[in-house]
Amino acid sequence: MENPFTHEYFMKKALQEAEVAFEQGEIPVGAIIVVENRVIARTHNLTELLNDVTAHAEMQAITSAANFIGGKYLKGCTLYVTLEPCQMCAGALYWSQISKIVFGARDDQRGFMSMGTKLHPKTEVVSGVLAQEAADLMLRFFASKRK
Ligand SMILES: [Zn+2]
Repeated sequence: MENPFTHEYFMKKALQEAEVAFEQGEIPVGAIIVVENRVIARTHNLTELLNDVTAHAEMQAITSAANFIGGKYLKGCTLYVTLEPCQMCAGALYWSQISKIVFGARDDQRGFMSMGTKLHPKTEVVSGVLAQEAADLMLRFFASKRK
């Protein structure tokens, strides 16, 4: 039997969160954290709602997952996020020692890769999962803002 728990399967859930952000007028970035195929955190960008530039989806997800686990380190966890994390989130992810980061679209301007931000040496990265869907959502969002 084929494993239903693919990167695409979980990224779709992160994209659903990004859609919620979109509907609420937030930059549409969604994130979930998974442990052993179980979703333990489900969040999206809240910078407008909280009036807080640090309220990125990943930051919410890290806090939420740590609360769920009852410990601050996210070893054994995988973060699915629709957009490449920025350097602030990459820094927070570094401290969390998260095992894996799977992201969708690249962010050439503000992403941690172009910024040269280092992740924890034990963190594995997978990129480009449903990247087109995530990028389309961002484009649609910014197009709607220009109207
Ligand atoms: Zn960020």
